[in-house]
Amino acid sequence: MENNLSPKKENILDPDELFNELEQKIIASGRPLSLERIRSAYEMAKEAHAGQKRKSGDPYVTHCVSAADITVDMGLDEDSIVAALLHDVIEDTNTTHDDIAKRFGTPVADIVEGVTKLTRVQYTSKEDEQMENLRKMLMAMAQDIRVILIKIADRTHNMRTMAYQSPEKQRSKSLETMEIYAPLAHRLGMQRSKWELEDLSLQYLDPHGYKEITDNLASKMPILNEFMGKIEAAIKQRLKEENINGAVTCRIKHVYSIYRKMYSQKLDMSGIFDLCAFRVIVDTIPDCYNVLGLIHDMYKPVPGRFKDYISTPKPNMYQSVHTTVIGTEGIPFEVQIRTWDMHHTAEYGIAAHWKYKLGSGSDSVREGDEDKFAWVRRLLESQQESDGQEFFRSLKIDMFADEVFVFSPKGDVINLPAGATPIDFAYSIHSHVGHHMVGASVNGRIVTYDYTLQNGDVVEIRTSKSAPGPSRDWLNIAKSGSARTKIKQWYKKERREENIIRGREMLEDELKHNNLSLDDVVDESIMAPILRHFSFAAVDDLYAAIGYGGLTANRAATRLKDEVARNSRPSKNALDKVNEAAERREQQAARRPVNAVHGILVEGLDNCLIKFSRCCTPVPGDDIIGFITRGQGVSIHRCDCTNYMKNSQNPENAGRWINVSWASQISESYLTSIYIHAKDRNGLVLDVATILNSLNAKVRNLAAHGYPDGTAITNVTLEVKNLTELKYIISRLATIGGVTDIVRNGE
Ligand code: MN
Repeated sequence: MENNLSPKKENILDPDELFNELEQKIIASGRPLSLERIRSAYEMAKEAHAGQKRKSGDPYVTHCVSAADITVDMGLDEDSIVAALLHDVIEDTNTTHDDIAKRFGTPVADIVEGVTKLTRVQYTSKEDEQMENLRKMLMAMAQDIRVILIKIADRTHNMRTMAYQSPEKQRSKSLETMEIYAPLAHRLGMQRSKWELEDLSLQYLDPHGYKEITDNLASKMPILNEFMGKIEAAIKQRLKEENINGAVTCRIKHVYSIYRKMYSQKLDMSGIFDLCAFRVIVDTIPDCYNVLGLIHDMYKPVPGRFKDYISTPKPNMYQSVHTTVIGTEGIPFEVQIRTWDMHHTAEYGIAAHWKYKLGSGSDSVREGDEDKFAWVRRLLESQQESDGQEFFRSLKIDMFADEVFVFSPKGDVINLPAGATPIDFAYSIHSHVGHHMVGASVNGRIVTYDYTLQNGDVVEIRTSKSAPGPSRDWLNIAKSGSARTKIKQWYKKERREENIIRGREMLEDELKHNNLSLDDVVDESIMAPILRHFSFAAVDDLYAAIGYGGLTANRAATRLKDEVARNSRPSKNALDKVNEAAERREQQAARRPVNAVHGILVEGLDNCLIKFSRCCTPVPGDDIIGFITRGQGVSIHRCDCTNYMKNSQNPENAGRWINVSWASQISESYLTSIYIHAKDRNGLVLDVATILNSLNAKVRNLAAHGYPDGTAITNVTLEVKNLTELKYIISRLATIGGVTDIVRNGE
């Protein structure tokens, strides 16, 4: 491969000539494509890009023709070829979606618009998980698989002509290609595109490494060629003797695969023994195994190197059997054996289905929109049994219908439920961001809180320390359960004072309707049984619960009224006793099931195995939720546990989350864990230990760890009776000098 880094070019390309060549190629393919329509697209592109030039000096439209040429090589349908010719007109010229739709139909216009959207996605290199999200986002944005295929063709041509770009651009585009487009091509099974993209990228990402390998290969070529020729002839001869119809080819493996082996196995090139790969393509699957037998008869197989991807295809549909054997000169080499069908799929992946499966007469995928991608679905169904989950997810584009992918200002991809709003986004970053949000903008423009986020949006949240906090309306606007939970929690915790006042007023009002005043009920003899009944530690807790809506004022007032009535009578008559007994039964029925395990009541289940999750270690007083584990009973999480919030959205677990609550009488202690963030200093741990000791806290474990930035985190695992006790301990620990924050685990 020529590596011309000098951005000068002697022969400026003539676009008409280039297009004529493309036309010849289409004619030669014998496919029933409308040359008239394709030429018309070329003319539209040529006119739209008139005057624009590539960095190489070539007229811009040559790029469009070359990208279209690649889609022809991929075997894509007519609409794809037309769209490839037009793929840059929306982005770079005044042409609109409507203009294209009028001349070539809405499907073509939609594809071009899809490519344009992908082009606009800002990209920064990130860790693996983020890259995976970004690839998913591209797939989700594409909506039509052809958008991705054209984008791959576009990128392939841009990489082929990368020599004319600045070194910075060469590097960043190559990195993007290596991290996004080559993996996408791989996932779609397009080995040919993947190899080319990887080799072109490597050329710019590690020019020295690339050169070392190509030079080395060049010096070995005479020997390798002789070797390959001999083996090829021997295999052909044997097939003939055995009457098996098969094509035998040989190639040197692509540079990047050699490169990766050198680095992952820390070998120099002499240590990589199988540089050549032979391929035998036959008509039937039984022939594949017959040929395998012949090869193993001719040459000694290397143990452990036989792989049968025919019986177990790779997730991207790849099928072949591979074996490595040792040739007569002691040189090992790999042989891949497959049928023609498997070969097309291996080379062109998903695109092979246009090229080979649809047959003549139905070249475009027009018949019935619903059936458009029936083959994709069929394909995917056959994948489900193998380890195709990931492929399945990323390919079936409408699988993403319930998700939306957006960017944070830093370029992180955030995955939210479809229909999500800036409120969901803010809470997915951090609850503090949500609570302090005062405004949101999308792609630089201010939006209202109920704006529906679109794939690829860049979302920015403005926050302020003096923000009033979430409004109750947000509960209706937010789409994600985790955002709603966080908003409710805020109301419960942050607004405690307000809730107490509000709840007190609400109760007072309600009592008035029953001809009572607060003074009538605050007496210990009236209030104590009521608090016990609702499991509140103090009157304020009762008010607060009414204030945030956890308990209706009516329910509390009715109970209080009954209690007053009971107390005001010196003796109980028979009717009262009957009523009381009925009420007790009612109470017990309301508390079904009656059997609490470890202080936990599980809705609809009695005596089941209870396990407290380690990720968030809930204690009585925490809002909790149960998860039905496989074989280990119900595991209890806090509602604000990040694990729960992450997994509660997962449809796979739908139905496994179950309502649980704390029993009213709890005598046990519960193990939980907190992290004390502080400036590191001498005596810090001693201070922590002293306070814990003075509180008689039941400490099970205490571990401190200092960090280079001068901070320290002390992890305390302890047993508490309930949230009130834990909060008290935390409030006392917070008074220690240098402590900046105390968080519970799972937060
Ligand atoms: Mn382009």
